[in-house]
Amino acid sequence: MANGPDYYALLGVEKAATPEELKAAYRKAALKHHPDRNPGDPQAETKFKEVSEAYHVLSDPDRRAHYDRFGTAPTGQGMPDFSNFANMEDLFEVFGDLLQGLGGVGRGRRAAGRAVHRTVEISLEECARGTEKIVDFERSAECGECHGRGAAPGTQVEACQVCAGRGEVRFRQGFFQLTRPCGKCGGRGSVARTPCEPCKGTGIARKAERLSVSLPPGVEDGATRTVPGYGDAPGGGLPSGDLELTIKIKDHPLFERDGADLHCTVPVSFPQAALGGMIEVPTLDGRVKMRLPAGTQPGQELRLRSKGMPRFGGYGRGDQIVTIQLEVPSALSPEQRELVEALAQTMNEETHPQRRTFLEKLKGLFD
Ligand SMILES: [Zn+2]
Ligand SMILES: [Zn+2]
Repeated sequence: MANGPDYYALLGVEKAATPEELKAAYRKAALKHHPDRNPGDPQAETKFKEVSEAYHVLSDPDRRAHYDRFGTAPTGQGMPDFSNFANMEDLFEVFGDLLQGLGGVGRGRRAAGRAVHRTVEISLEECARGTEKIVDFERSAECGECHGRGAAPGTQVEACQVCAGRGEVRFRQGFFQLTRPCGKCGGRGSVARTPCEPCKGTGIARKAERLSVSLPPGVEDGATRTVPGYGDAPGGGLPSGDLELTIKIKDHPLFERDGADLHCTVPVSFPQAALGGMIEVPTLDGRVKMRLPAGTQPGQELRLRSKGMPRFGGYGRGDQIVTIQLEVPSALSPEQRELVEALAQTMNEETHPQRRTFLEKLKGLFD
């Protein structure tokens, strides 16, 4: 071969390159030689055309097979005009995402409206049983008066002179011929002789919306929900954006959530902890009686099975973990004082093994 240019060398790939490798190589080479990045450099422009031609041939299995066999691009098919990039399928395939970033680019890829963001606050109880919430919000929507035409009811519209009724205008960015929605007519392609009063002829008006959103039991704090089509309408018949809801679970005075488990702290007195017995504990289902073992220590955790939050998706419930807090009276009546003093007389190292261990360690340290 070697009659024609070495397309593989131009793209810097092996002859066995996969389509993905070719695409990546073309993208890299085209970006490097892009005229916007090399202003006033005619060599970059030439190089850009060369790599575009190489990719055009190698990205098509038939053309590539022909090239591999004969060393030239197949004739008779007509090479695209590489100076008119609006017509280049390859370029859009490889740079589609980049071009989209430039805003409102042709080939049917036209941007939808902006998203509207709202936070939905629910209580822990609502979260536990699942809930339905009313969400009030405002968005840009088609004007109800003129139904988006922009013309006062009963009046005519005429084709926009700026875009000749197409709704979009073409412009050049370096090598790229791009389109964007027409600013004069807002992408509608028509303008009103008598603009609609409420929307000033834009066809878009602020609209109050009210939606009912159903939240399943066990939804996580910070979770998001998307309601398609309830964001801002960009006008010109383009699709509306989405409504993005963020779920916020309000702080609870008694419970702290840890995944599917709930934590709460319950204060008890010394006699309760020492003697044990039934204590009352709050749960999401109401108050329940829980057995406190005799000799419960401060900070000890007791578990109430399946009294936590529902696991998302309906796989049972987590546990409630009760942390026992020992409350020492900050003041005693004379009578209580006498009783506690009498109790203290009966206590020794036998009744307080932790204290005994502590005293023994202390002895070893200082004697
Ligand atoms: Zn209107
Ligand atoms: Zn226009």
